[in-house]
Amino acid sequence: MNKLKLVFATNNKNKLKEVQAMLTNFEIVSLADINCFDDIPETADSLTGNAILKADYITKKFGLNCFADDTGLEVKSLDGEPGVYSARYAGIENNSEKNMAKLLTKLGDNLNREAQFKTAIALNINKKQFIFEGICKGHILKQKQGSSGFGYDPIFMPEGFKKSFAEMDLNEKGAISHRGKAIQELVHFLNKHF
Ligand code: IMP
Repeated sequence: MNKLKLVFATNNKNKLKEVQAMLTNFEIVSLADINCFDDIPETADSLTGNAILKADYITKKFGLNCFADDTGLEVKSLDGEPGVYSARYAGIENNSEKNMAKLLTKLGDNLNREAQFKTAIALNINKKQFIFEGICKGHILKQKQGSSGFGYDPIFMPEGFKKSFAEMDLNEKGAISHRGKAIQELVHFLNKHF
């Protein structure tokens, strides 16, 4: 049986692998797979707004079913920073080492290290739009632990675990992560309706 093709509006290979591992009944292709190398604007002031901007860009330009995600790390004692600015917290887009260093410096010895990752997904399918969300609660470690994953993984310890995201393998992280939960919502929806 032909798998339903969906564009995942990303070029992040780690994210693509995580999502492909969870959506095996669908053909998930990346932006590169559809020859889209555009710098898609992410100028909204919320995670959901950015997910919608990205999904709409692809659907309008290529006429394809598509989903896009946007994720932010929200640290309670920093009033939700870095939030929608997670990728460019230290000024330079996607420099994880600098982003983590800035966060650890700002947090200092603060005892309240509560944080959560939040993922918003916008799905455009057959001319309709649907929004999904996933949250993973945890706390920020005092120093980096582990070397797997990406982004803030080495300094984030999910609630109920004694290891950081960067000490987990893809399946372990995917089962409990913000993106994993948002994708599970998406999968549940797709399996029920398509
Ligand atoms: P994006 O919207 O998925 O591109 O995420 C924005 C930024 O949040 C990324 O550049 C990473 O710094 C961070 N981020 C997103 N997902 C994760 C994750 O699963 N672990 C650690 N950091 C993440």
